[in-house]
Amino acid sequence: MTDTTQQLIRREKDTFLGEENPFEAMMSRFDYAAELLNLDAGLYKVLRNPEKQIIVSIPVQMDTGEVEVFTGYRVLYNTSRGPAKGGIRFDLNVTLEEVKALAAWMTWKCAVVNIPFGGSKGGVICDPTTMSAGELERLTRRYTSGIIETLGPDSDVPAPDVNTNERVMAWVMDTYSMHKRHTVTAVVTGKPVEMGGSQGRREATGRGCMIVTREALKHLGMPLGGARVVVQGFGNVGSVTAELLQKEGCTIVAVSDVAGGIYNPKGLDVKDVMEWRASHRYVTGYTKAEGVTNDELLTLDCDVLVPAALENVITSRNAGDIKAKVIIEGANGPTAAGADEILDRKGIFVVPDILANAGGVTVSYFEWVQDRGGYFWSEETVNRRLTEIMVHSFHNVLDVSKRYGVNMRIAAYTLAIDRVAAVHRLRGMYA
Ligand code: GLU
Repeated sequence: MTDTTQQLIRREKDTFLGEENPFEAMMSRFDYAAELLNLDAGLYKVLRNPEKQIIVSIPVQMDTGEVEVFTGYRVLYNTSRGPAKGGIRFDLNVTLEEVKALAAWMTWKCAVVNIPFGGSKGGVICDPTTMSAGELERLTRRYTSGIIETLGPDSDVPAPDVNTNERVMAWVMDTYSMHKRHTVTAVVTGKPVEMGGSQGRREATGRGCMIVTREALKHLGMPLGGARVVVQGFGNVGSVTAELLQKEGCTIVAVSDVAGGIYNPKGLDVKDVMEWRASHRYVTGYTKAEGVTNDELLTLDCDVLVPAALENVITSRNAGDIKAKVIIEGANGPTAAGADEILDRKGIFVVPDILANAGGVTVSYFEWVQDRGGYFWSEETVNRRLTEIMVHSFHNVLDVSKRYGVNMRIAAYTLAIDRVAAVHRLRGMYA
């Protein structure tokens, strides 16, 4: 007799690798949604496995003349709905398990906002803060050539992620184009505007976070004006979210980066903090606020908490101490699965990563469309269409959450898995 989905889920629970394993964090929520949807056992097995996993060794000549060999990954999780889409991160903590989880999250994220992409992710184990621009360029080009077979506007389209940016995307695009013998702008998104990038792409993830914060507070009957916001992470996502929420009338009481946080209950001037950071490298030491650690920052008294840095910052250990009423997940996977129940019990409204930070990939989709059409939109058009998609997706997820009586995270997974599964059923199995 073949196994039922329930039996398969039980077996997966027996081999649980711990709440901080990112793939487990993704899968435990996936299992929950799969049960709600009554997903058949065959599709369950298909959707819990990545389609393709690539590991490359990347030799790079360092500025000293010595050769270092880095390890890079690219995982294509699922491409049933369209070309794989997902960023590339450069970080010392990159692992294959993490890249697999991030590629799965991209699959669900693109489905939540209903854009015609599958999900992928790439990562290289390195510390970009200690590397020169030349070393980073050589690393990027060699990594790109290592994964070139999967890349392409119709197959796999990278974008920026942790510690990568427009400049890195320009090198990816150039390397790919040199191999193809002609310029292919649509092979990456998040490029500089001068070479086929989209207006509004750099701010898109933060803008999306601002839009869902606005919708969440409206839904909860909480005023946006004067809402006290704490933002963890002051990179591209965190800093833009803070800036835009301040423009909407919120009071940004604390922000942080890898070095630590700054707190002022009367509110921080985000632009001023950005200027401080530009000249001092980190937000720490900012004179018009007191210093706090990243751990303390998460449990500060506030209305909205935006974790916009890395995975697993909210866990079963600290979830009980969180005082925010709303959590907007700017990062991917900031909440470990073990924390979900604690946050639910405290009545905290969580807008999950695959919805909250989907503004980035949504404008990536706009960029890809513009590149392929060779016709570019104004920033106003980009922002208007982004707003439409984010607001619509927020309410789609909210409706599913009411229909099944589940939190927003499980609702987002349910919506996404249902959409991906529907395409699998329609396409059938190629044998
Ligand atoms: N790295 C971003 C994310 O995690 C953007 C991905 C993309 O635009 O393809 O959503």
